[in-house]
Amino acid sequence: MQIVRTLAQLRQVLDDLNSKGASLGFVPTMGALHAGHLALVEEARAQTGVVICSIFVNPLQFNRAEDLAHYPRHEEEDLALLQPTGVDLVFMPEVGDLFGGGWKPSVYDLGGLDTVLEGAWRPGHFQGVAQVVGRLLDLIPCTDLFMGLKDYQQCLVVQRLLDTRKGRQAVLHRRPTVRDAMGLALSSRNLLLSAEDLERARGIARTWRWMKEALAAPPSGAVPPSPSALLSPSALIEGGLHRLEQEGLRPEYLSLVRDGTLDPWSGPADDGLPRALFAGWLGSVRLIDNELLAP
Ligand code: AMP
Repeated sequence: MQIVRTLAQLRQVLDDLNSKGASLGFVPTMGALHAGHLALVEEARAQTGVVICSIFVNPLQFNRAEDLAHYPRHEEEDLALLQPTGVDLVFMPEVGDLFGGGWKPSVYDLGGLDTVLEGAWRPGHFQGVAQVVGRLLDLIPCTDLFMGLKDYQQCLVVQRLLDTRKGRQAVLHRRPTVRDAMGLALSSRNLLLSAEDLERARGIARTWRWMKEALAAPPSGAVPPSPSALLSPSALIEGGLHRLEQEGLRPEYLSLVRDGTLDPWSGPADDGLPRALFAGWLGSVRLIDNELLAP
């Protein structure tokens, strides 16, 4: 496993790796790695000849300075976790190197995918994501890109970015969310939660179960009260929000979209499947999660 910190070193190592002529898998991360990240690396290992993982806390995608300042950084542990995965190269650039040396931000038309849901609550976030992914793809000519559905909207934004880039296009592999035994989606931000808040965070998974059950067989006496009303998206959202609040979370949004899009899911008659998207707070930590509610 080679560890590369500068662009100059990266170019050199890539020349060697490219000469092998193998497919090149790339897993971009912000570090504080957990089993969700490692599942992406393992999938890349299984599907491509050479695997590169980047660790870079991208300041451009943080819309709150405090969030950036507190974002967990565990370089030594990350490298120890990556070592046994068989990843070929870990790229860990400095901000000034990646976004320096005459680099200029591009203007990305993300087709409005960047201004709703997460984009509405975190203005500029997805433009920041697009800048870093675009920059990394310019440097790392991968054939395959591996990302997690934990960041569902990010997957759609990155696919859009790939579609609009000139030249050979990398294939985006969207991998399922890795959860703990209680259903909590693994996240670097979970490291910032107290034991009590971790338990509250598991209320998100309990809410997913509740919403699935409500869709399959509307329970009587639940909130909202009428079983037939429960099947309407707005009533399901209302019930889900109520549940999340009972669990001690402060939701920013709970939305139902047609899976594969950000379009609203219109109810059981919709020809698409419902995917629920959530963002909310526990103390000063903001969490996101999403789940396909179909069986
Ligand atoms: P991050 O380090 O949070 O920027 O995440 C890097 C990549 O790992 C992104 O593609 C995320 O969607 C993915 N990821 C984060 N958490 C999980 C998880 N629990 N399961 C699967 N993938 C994840």
